[in-house]
Amino acid sequence: MGAHRMDDAVPAEPGAYVLLIELGAPLALETASLARAVLPAGRYAYCGSAYGPGGLKARIGRHLRQDKAQRWHVDHLTRAGRIVDFRAVPGGRECDLLGRLLKAPGASVPVPGFGSSDCRRCPAHLVALPGDFELGASREEKRREFS
Ligand SMILES: [Zn+2]
Repeated sequence: MGAHRMDDAVPAEPGAYVLLIELGAPLALETASLARAVLPAGRYAYCGSAYGPGGLKARIGRHLRQDKAQRWHVDHLTRAGRIVDFRAVPGGRECDLLGRLLKAPGASVPVPGFGSSDCRRCPAHLVALPGDFELGASREEKRREFS
């Protein structure tokens, strides 16, 4: 689980979430569907949704574990990098969260299609951000902002 404060704070409700991930070294994505792209070291935000059993609590808990099987694109990133922050948005939609992150100054899409295989609306569900980007002062504040 690492040093993250979370189990008490993340609801088991369905919804969407944002992971803020710090990648300390370049990461080669060994996935043919991603054209074997290389992510530069830096700060990234990944948007996902959890509408299955256990909701946000189960899904974010899985992301925070290092010892997990490779299942989603983002697993490459969370195993090689470090989740420095996250936001859970009960009832939220990942594509809405992504749209807002893309409007942040300096935001860009590093790998088209990353995490968005099931989405026809977004260029990817991963956004590259400036190194000093923060999700916000408090979880509650951010939850309102994203709602
Ligand atoms: Zn989307």
